[in-house]
Amino acid sequence: MIYLDYAATTPLDSRVFDAMLPYFTETFGNPSSTHRYGQKAEAAVETARETIAGILNCRPDEVIFTSCGSESDNLALRGVALAQRKQHGLRRILTARTEHHAVSKTAERLQAEDGFQVEWLAVDEFGRVLPEAVEQALSPDTALVSVMYSNNEVGTVNPIPAIAEVCRRRGVLLHTDAVQAAAYLPVDVQALGVDLLSLGAHKFYGPKGIGALYVRKGTPLQSLLTGGKQEFGLRAGTHNVPLIVGLAEALRLADLEREERTARLKPLRDHIIGAVLEHIPNARLTGHPIERVPNHASFVFKDVDGNLLVNLLDAAGFACSSGSACKTGNPEPSEVLLSLGFPREWALGSLRVTLGLGTTPEDVEAFLSALPGLVQKARDLSGVK
Ligand SMILES: *Cc1c(COP(=O)(O)O)cnc(C)c1O
Repeated sequence: MIYLDYAATTPLDSRVFDAMLPYFTETFGNPSSTHRYGQKAEAAVETARETIAGILNCRPDEVIFTSCGSESDNLALRGVALAQRKQHGLRRILTARTEHHAVSKTAERLQAEDGFQVEWLAVDEFGRVLPEAVEQALSPDTALVSVMYSNNEVGTVNPIPAIAEVCRRRGVLLHTDAVQAAAYLPVDVQALGVDLLSLGAHKFYGPKGIGALYVRKGTPLQSLLTGGKQEFGLRAGTHNVPLIVGLAEALRLADLEREERTARLKPLRDHIIGAVLEHIPNARLTGHPIERVPNHASFVFKDVDGNLLVNLLDAAGFACSSGSACKTGNPEPSEVLLSLGFPREWALGSLRVTLGLGTTPEDVEAFLSALPGLVQKARDLSGVK
Protein backbone atom coordinates (compact mmCIF):
# COMPACT_ATOMS: atom_id res chain seq x y z
CA MET A 1 0.00 0.00 0.00
CA ILE A 2 1.35 3.42 -0.95
CA TYR A 3 0.21 6.43 1.09
CA LEU A 4 -0.36 9.58 -0.99
CA ASP A 5 -2.69 11.45 1.35
CA TYR A 6 -0.37 13.52 3.54
CA ALA A 7 -2.76 16.49 3.43
CA ALA A 8 -5.31 14.40 5.34
CA THR A 9 -2.81 13.45 8.01
CA THR A 10 0.82 12.42 8.44
CA PRO A 11 2.38 9.61 10.47
CA LEU A 12 4.03 10.61 13.74
CA ASP A 13 7.78 11.21 13.26
CA SER A 14 9.65 8.72 15.47
CA ARG A 15 11.81 11.57 16.79
CA VAL A 16 8.65 13.34 17.91
CA PHE A 17 7.36 10.14 19.51
CA ASP A 18 10.63 9.78 21.46
CA ALA A 19 10.37 13.38 22.71
CA MET A 20 6.79 12.77 23.89
CA LEU A 21 7.28 9.41 25.62
CA PRO A 22 8.55 10.50 29.07
CA TYR A 23 5.54 12.79 29.49
CA PHE A 24 3.08 9.90 29.36
CA THR A 25 4.70 8.03 32.22
CA GLU A 26 7.49 9.56 34.36
CA THR A 27 6.64 13.24 34.03
CA PHE A 28 2.91 12.89 34.44
CA GLY A 29 2.18 15.86 36.74
CA ASN A 30 -0.51 18.46 36.20
CA PRO A 31 1.23 21.70 35.15
CA SER A 32 -1.22 23.61 37.35
CA SER A 33 -0.04 21.79 40.52
CA THR A 34 2.44 23.65 42.71
CA HIS A 35 4.53 20.64 43.81
CA ARG A 36 7.54 19.40 41.91
CA TYR A 37 5.56 16.93 39.75
CA GLY A 38 3.55 19.88 38.54
CA GLN A 39 6.58 22.13 38.13
CA LYS A 40 8.35 19.60 35.90
CA ALA A 41 5.31 19.26 33.68
CA GLU A 42 4.85 23.03 33.60
CA ALA A 43 8.48 23.47 32.58
CA ALA A 44 7.90 21.13 29.62
CA VAL A 45 4.82 23.09 28.53
CA GLU A 46 6.65 26.42 28.81
CA THR A 47 9.70 25.11 26.93
CA ALA A 48 7.37 23.92 24.16
CA ARG A 49 5.68 27.33 24.11
CA GLU A 50 9.07 29.07 23.80
CA THR A 51 10.12 26.76 20.96
CA ILE A 52 6.92 27.50 19.06
CA ALA A 53 7.18 31.24 19.77
CA GLY A 54 10.74 31.20 18.41
CA ILE A 55 9.54 29.72 15.12
CA LEU A 56 6.47 31.99 14.89
CA ASN A 57 8.66 34.98 15.81
CA CYS A 58 6.31 36.05 18.60
CA ARG A 59 6.19 36.19 22.40
CA PRO A 60 5.58 32.93 24.26
CA ASP A 61 2.46 34.40 25.89
CA GLU A 62 0.98 34.90 22.42
CA VAL A 63 0.79 31.11 21.89
CA ILE A 64 -2.39 29.34 23.10
CA PHE A 65 -2.53 25.53 23.10
CA THR A 66 -5.78 23.99 21.84
CA SER A 67 -6.97 20.45 21.06
CA CYS A 68 -6.61 20.65 17.25
CA GLY A 69 -6.54 22.89 14.20
CA SER A 70 -10.34 23.02 14.17
CA GLU A 71 -10.45 24.30 17.73
CA SER A 72 -7.84 26.95 16.90
CA ASP A 73 -10.00 28.13 13.98
CA ASN A 74 -13.13 28.12 16.16
CA LEU A 75 -11.38 30.09 18.92
CA ALA A 76 -10.05 32.62 16.40
CA LEU A 77 -13.37 33.26 14.67
CA ARG A 78 -15.84 32.94 17.49
CA GLY A 79 -13.53 34.28 20.19
CA VAL A 80 -12.66 37.41 18.22
CA ALA A 81 -16.18 37.95 16.83
CA LEU A 82 -17.80 37.82 20.26
CA ALA A 83 -15.16 40.08 21.84
CA GLN A 84 -15.25 42.58 18.95
CA ARG A 85 -19.03 42.84 19.19
CA LYS A 86 -18.92 43.31 22.95
CA GLN A 87 -16.08 45.84 22.95
CA HIS A 88 -16.66 47.70 19.70
CA GLY A 89 -20.10 46.73 18.37
CA LEU A 90 -18.58 45.12 15.24
CA ARG A 91 -20.69 42.47 13.50
CA ARG A 92 -19.20 41.64 10.12
CA ILE A 93 -16.89 38.74 9.23
CA LEU A 94 -15.03 38.42 5.92
CA THR A 95 -13.96 34.98 4.77
CA ALA A 96 -14.13 32.72 1.69
CA ARG A 97 -15.94 29.60 0.47
CA THR A 98 -12.54 28.02 -0.12
CA GLU A 99 -11.81 27.88 3.62
CA HIS A 100 -11.70 24.61 5.57
CA HIS A 101 -15.06 23.85 7.21
CA ALA A 102 -13.51 24.64 10.59
CA VAL A 103 -13.61 28.27 9.42
CA SER A 104 -16.53 28.39 6.96
CA LYS A 105 -18.99 26.45 9.12
CA THR A 106 -18.03 28.51 12.16
CA ALA A 107 -18.70 31.70 10.18
CA GLU A 108 -22.05 30.30 9.01
CA ARG A 109 -23.00 29.47 12.59
CA LEU A 110 -22.04 32.95 13.78
CA GLN A 111 -24.35 34.33 11.10
CA ALA A 112 -27.25 31.93 11.70
CA GLU A 113 -27.25 32.03 15.49
CA ASP A 114 -25.27 34.97 16.78
CA GLY A 115 -26.38 37.85 14.62
CA PHE A 116 -23.15 38.33 12.67
CA GLN A 117 -23.06 39.08 8.98
CA VAL A 118 -20.68 37.01 6.85
CA GLU A 119 -19.31 38.40 3.62
CA TRP A 120 -17.86 35.73 1.29
CA LEU A 121 -14.75 37.06 -0.43
CA ALA A 122 -14.33 36.53 -4.15
CA VAL A 123 -11.64 34.03 -5.20
CA ASP A 124 -9.91 33.71 -8.56
CA GLU A 125 -9.89 30.59 -10.76
CA PHE A 126 -6.99 29.18 -8.71
CA GLY A 127 -8.74 29.69 -5.38
CA ARG A 128 -6.71 32.74 -4.39
CA VAL A 129 -8.11 35.57 -2.33
CA LEU A 130 -6.53 38.70 -3.78
CA PRO A 131 -5.79 41.76 -1.63
CA GLU A 132 -8.03 43.90 -3.88
CA ALA A 133 -11.01 41.65 -3.05
CA VAL A 134 -10.36 42.18 0.66
CA GLU A 135 -9.90 45.92 0.20
CA GLN A 136 -13.26 46.14 -1.59
CA ALA A 137 -15.13 44.13 1.01
CA LEU A 138 -13.75 45.85 4.13
CA SER A 139 -16.16 48.10 5.96
CA PRO A 140 -16.08 50.04 9.25
CA ASP A 141 -18.00 47.28 11.04
CA THR A 142 -15.65 44.42 10.03
CA ALA A 143 -14.75 42.45 13.17
CA LEU A 144 -12.35 39.99 11.52
CA VAL A 145 -10.97 38.83 8.18
CA SER A 146 -10.08 35.12 7.91
CA VAL A 147 -8.10 33.89 4.89
CA MET A 148 -6.27 30.56 4.86
CA TYR A 149 -2.52 30.45 4.21
CA SER A 150 -2.66 27.40 1.93
CA ASN A 151 -5.68 25.45 0.78
CA ASN A 152 -6.08 21.83 1.85
CA GLU A 153 -8.03 20.75 -1.23
CA VAL A 154 -6.25 22.49 -4.11
CA GLY A 155 -2.91 23.45 -2.53
CA THR A 156 -3.06 27.13 -3.48
CA VAL A 157 -1.05 29.55 -1.35
CA ASN A 158 -2.72 32.88 -0.60
CA PRO A 159 -0.80 36.20 -0.67
CA ILE A 160 -1.12 36.67 3.10
CA PRO A 161 1.45 39.50 3.54
CA ALA A 162 -0.34 41.61 0.89
CA ILE A 163 -3.75 40.89 2.44
CA ALA A 164 -2.32 41.74 5.88
CA GLU A 165 -1.03 45.04 4.52
CA VAL A 166 -4.56 45.98 3.43
CA CYS A 167 -6.07 44.92 6.77
CA ARG A 168 -3.42 46.81 8.75
CA ARG A 169 -3.98 49.99 6.80
CA ARG A 170 -7.69 49.78 7.58
CA GLY A 171 -7.15 48.72 11.20
CA VAL A 172 -8.91 45.36 10.79
CA LEU A 173 -7.81 42.08 12.40
CA LEU A 174 -6.62 39.21 10.19
CA HIS A 175 -6.66 35.49 11.02
CA THR A 176 -4.99 32.86 8.87
CA ASP A 177 -5.54 29.10 8.99
CA ALA A 178 -1.99 27.79 8.57
CA VAL A 179 -2.88 24.20 9.51
CA GLN A 180 -1.97 22.89 6.06
CA ALA A 181 0.76 25.43 5.27
CA ALA A 182 2.94 24.97 8.34
CA ALA A 183 4.40 21.71 7.03
CA TYR A 184 6.17 23.53 4.18
CA LEU A 185 5.89 27.31 4.43
CA PRO A 186 7.48 29.72 6.91
CA VAL A 187 5.12 30.74 9.71
CA ASP A 188 6.80 33.96 10.87
CA VAL A 189 3.77 35.95 12.03
CA GLN A 190 5.62 39.29 11.74
CA ALA A 191 6.58 38.62 8.12
CA LEU A 192 3.05 37.40 7.40
CA GLY A 193 1.56 40.37 9.27
CA VAL A 194 -1.33 38.39 10.77
CA ASP A 195 -3.01 38.89 14.16
CA LEU A 196 -4.06 35.26 14.61
CA LEU A 197 -2.69 32.04 13.10
CA SER A 198 -3.93 28.44 13.54
CA LEU A 199 -1.72 25.34 13.69
CA GLY A 200 -2.51 21.62 13.98
CA ALA A 201 0.30 19.13 14.71
CA HIS A 202 -0.90 16.07 12.80
CA LYS A 203 -0.43 17.80 9.43
CA PHE A 204 3.34 18.05 10.04
CA TYR A 205 4.29 14.69 11.56
CA GLY A 206 3.12 15.58 15.06
CA PRO A 207 0.40 13.86 17.09
CA LYS A 208 -3.33 14.15 16.43
CA GLY A 209 -5.44 16.03 18.95
CA ILE A 210 -3.21 19.05 19.56
CA GLY A 211 -3.11 22.49 18.00
CA ALA A 212 -2.14 26.05 18.78
CA LEU A 213 -3.41 29.53 18.08
CA TYR A 214 -1.13 32.54 17.83
CA VAL A 215 -2.91 35.63 19.18
CA ARG A 216 -1.16 38.97 18.84
CA LYS A 217 -0.99 40.90 22.14
CA GLY A 218 -3.95 43.22 22.52
CA THR A 219 -6.27 41.26 20.20
CA PRO A 220 -9.79 41.13 21.66
CA LEU A 221 -10.56 37.44 22.32
CA GLN A 222 -13.24 35.77 24.39
CA SER A 223 -12.59 32.25 25.66
CA LEU A 224 -14.92 29.49 24.48
CA LEU A 225 -14.16 26.96 27.23
CA THR A 226 -14.77 28.12 30.77
CA GLY A 227 -13.13 26.53 33.79
CA GLY A 228 -9.55 26.79 34.99
CA LYS A 229 -7.16 29.64 34.25
CA GLN A 230 -4.94 27.67 31.85
CA GLU A 231 -3.61 29.40 28.73
CA PHE A 232 -3.87 32.93 30.18
CA GLY A 233 -7.57 32.33 30.86
CA LEU A 234 -8.26 31.80 27.17
CA ARG A 235 -8.55 28.00 27.07
CA ALA A 236 -9.55 26.08 30.20
CA GLY A 237 -8.57 22.43 30.65
CA THR A 238 -5.62 20.50 32.02
CA HIS A 239 -2.71 20.69 29.59
CA ASN A 240 -2.05 17.62 27.47
CA VAL A 241 1.67 17.71 28.23
CA PRO A 242 2.97 14.92 25.91
CA LEU A 243 1.01 16.23 22.96
CA ILE A 244 2.16 19.80 23.58
CA VAL A 245 5.77 18.56 23.66
CA GLY A 246 5.07 16.66 20.42
CA LEU A 247 3.60 19.71 18.69
CA ALA A 248 6.68 21.78 19.52
CA GLU A 249 9.13 19.07 18.40
CA ALA A 250 7.24 18.45 15.14
CA LEU A 251 7.15 22.16 14.33
CA ARG A 252 10.85 22.51 15.20
CA LEU A 253 11.71 19.69 12.77
CA ALA A 254 9.43 21.08 10.04
CA ASP A 255 11.14 24.44 10.38
CA LEU A 256 14.65 22.95 10.52
CA GLU A 257 14.13 20.61 7.54
CA ARG A 258 11.83 22.87 5.52
CA GLU A 259 14.17 23.47 2.57
CA GLU A 260 15.34 19.88 2.38
CA ARG A 261 11.77 18.50 2.43
CA THR A 262 10.66 21.01 -0.19
CA ALA A 263 13.63 20.36 -2.47
CA ARG A 264 12.95 16.61 -2.44
CA LEU A 265 9.17 16.70 -2.93
CA LYS A 266 8.68 19.55 -5.39
CA PRO A 267 10.20 17.73 -8.40
CA LEU A 268 8.13 14.62 -7.59
CA ARG A 269 5.01 16.77 -7.43
CA ASP A 270 5.82 18.50 -10.71
CA HIS A 271 6.46 15.14 -12.34
CA ILE A 272 2.99 13.96 -11.28
CA ILE A 273 1.32 17.13 -12.55
CA GLY A 274 3.13 16.98 -15.89
CA ALA A 275 2.47 13.28 -16.44
CA VAL A 276 -1.22 13.42 -15.52
CA LEU A 277 -1.94 16.40 -17.74
CA GLU A 278 0.00 14.83 -20.60
CA HIS A 279 -1.30 11.26 -20.46
CA ILE A 280 -4.87 11.48 -19.19
CA PRO A 281 -7.54 12.94 -21.48
CA ASN A 282 -9.95 15.52 -20.06
CA ALA A 283 -7.80 16.21 -17.00
CA ARG A 284 -7.20 19.60 -15.42
CA LEU A 285 -5.02 20.80 -12.58
CA THR A 286 -6.94 22.42 -9.71
CA GLY A 287 -5.40 25.27 -7.75
CA HIS A 288 -2.53 27.50 -8.73
CA PRO A 289 0.17 26.04 -11.04
CA ILE A 290 3.01 27.80 -9.19
CA GLU A 291 1.70 29.34 -5.98
CA ARG A 292 1.01 25.98 -4.35
CA VAL A 293 2.49 23.94 -1.49
CA PRO A 294 5.35 21.72 -2.70
CA ASN A 295 3.81 18.33 -1.82
CA HIS A 296 0.39 18.90 -3.38
CA ALA A 297 -1.02 17.81 -6.76
CA SER A 298 -4.76 18.01 -7.37
CA PHE A 299 -6.87 17.40 -10.43
CA VAL A 300 -10.34 17.08 -11.85
CA PHE A 301 -11.28 14.51 -14.47
CA LYS A 302 -14.37 15.21 -16.53
CA ASP A 303 -17.24 12.71 -16.18
CA VAL A 304 -15.54 10.64 -13.50
CA ASP A 305 -16.97 9.82 -10.08
CA GLY A 306 -14.11 10.96 -7.82
CA ASN A 307 -15.17 8.72 -4.94
CA LEU A 308 -15.21 5.71 -7.25
CA LEU A 309 -11.74 6.60 -8.53
CA VAL A 310 -10.44 6.83 -4.96
CA ASN A 311 -11.92 3.39 -4.25
CA LEU A 312 -10.35 1.90 -7.37
CA LEU A 313 -7.01 3.43 -6.39
CA ASP A 314 -7.38 1.98 -2.89
CA ALA A 315 -8.05 -1.48 -4.33
CA ALA A 316 -4.94 -1.06 -6.50
CA GLY A 317 -2.82 -0.13 -3.46
CA PHE A 318 -2.80 3.68 -3.47
CA ALA A 319 -4.29 5.89 -0.75
CA CYS A 320 -5.40 9.25 -2.20
CA SER A 321 -8.40 11.42 -1.60
CA SER A 322 -11.11 13.17 -3.50
CA GLY A 323 -11.20 16.70 -2.17
CA SER A 324 -11.12 17.08 1.58
CA ALA A 325 -10.92 14.04 3.87
CA CYS A 326 -13.88 15.39 5.79
CA LYS A 327 -16.12 14.82 2.78
CA THR A 328 -15.65 11.07 2.33
CA GLY A 329 -18.76 9.40 0.97
CA ASN A 330 -20.37 12.69 0.05
CA PRO A 331 -21.54 12.59 -3.57
CA GLU A 332 -21.99 16.36 -3.76
CA PRO A 333 -19.23 18.23 -5.58
CA SER A 334 -16.83 20.12 -3.34
CA GLU A 335 -17.85 23.70 -2.54
CA VAL A 336 -14.23 24.69 -3.02
CA LEU A 337 -14.12 23.43 -6.62
CA LEU A 338 -17.51 24.97 -7.41
CA SER A 339 -16.31 28.31 -6.03
CA LEU A 340 -13.29 28.07 -8.38
CA GLY A 341 -15.79 27.93 -11.24
CA PHE A 342 -15.56 24.24 -12.19
CA PRO A 343 -18.82 22.87 -13.62
CA ARG A 344 -20.41 19.95 -11.79
CA GLU A 345 -19.31 17.30 -14.35
CA TRP A 346 -15.71 18.30 -13.71
CA ALA A 347 -15.93 19.05 -9.99
CA LEU A 348 -17.34 15.59 -9.15
CA GLY A 349 -14.18 13.97 -10.55
CA SER A 350 -11.62 15.43 -8.16
CA LEU A 351 -8.44 13.72 -7.03
CA ARG A 352 -5.91 14.95 -4.48
CA VAL A 353 -2.44 13.41 -4.38
CA THR A 354 -0.27 14.66 -1.54
CA LEU A 355 3.30 13.54 -0.93
CA GLY A 356 5.36 13.36 2.23
CA LEU A 357 8.47 12.15 4.03
CA GLY A 358 7.77 8.52 3.16
CA THR A 359 7.18 9.07 -0.57
CA THR A 360 9.83 7.66 -2.93
CA PRO A 361 10.32 8.23 -6.68
CA GLU A 362 9.38 4.53 -7.13
CA ASP A 363 6.04 5.18 -5.38
CA VAL A 364 5.37 8.01 -7.80
CA GLU A 365 6.23 5.88 -10.84
CA ALA A 366 4.00 3.04 -9.65
CA PHE A 367 1.17 5.52 -9.12
CA LEU A 368 1.63 7.11 -12.54
CA SER A 369 1.60 3.69 -14.24
CA ALA A 370 -1.67 2.74 -12.56
CA LEU A 371 -3.60 6.00 -12.75
CA PRO A 372 -4.53 6.36 -16.46
CA GLY A 373 -6.15 2.90 -16.61
CA LEU A 374 -8.04 3.51 -13.38
CA VAL A 375 -9.35 6.89 -14.56
CA GLN A 376 -10.55 5.20 -17.75
CA LYS A 377 -12.19 2.43 -15.73
CA ALA A 378 -13.89 4.97 -13.46
CA ARG A 379 -15.06 6.89 -16.51
CA ASP A 380 -16.51 3.72 -18.07
CA LEU A 381 -18.21 2.73 -14.83
CA SER A 382 -19.52 6.25 -14.27
CA GLY A 383 -21.63 5.68 -17.36
CA VAL A 384 -20.81 8.94 -19.15
CA LYS A 385 -18.61 9.07 -22.24
C1 LIG B 1 -6.77 19.63 8.75
C2 LIG B 1 -7.14 21.05 8.65
C3 LIG B 1 -7.88 21.68 9.66
C4 LIG B 1 -8.39 20.94 10.86
O1 LIG B 1 -7.34 20.55 11.70
P1 LIG B 1 -7.58 19.36 12.77
O2 LIG B 1 -6.35 19.40 13.60
O3 LIG B 1 -7.71 18.10 11.96
O4 LIG B 1 -8.80 19.71 13.52
C5 LIG B 1 -8.16 23.02 9.51
N1 LIG B 1 -7.74 23.72 8.44
C6 LIG B 1 -7.03 23.15 7.45
C7 LIG B 1 -6.58 23.98 6.30
C8 LIG B 1 -6.71 21.80 7.52
O5 LIG B 1 -6.00 21.24 6.53
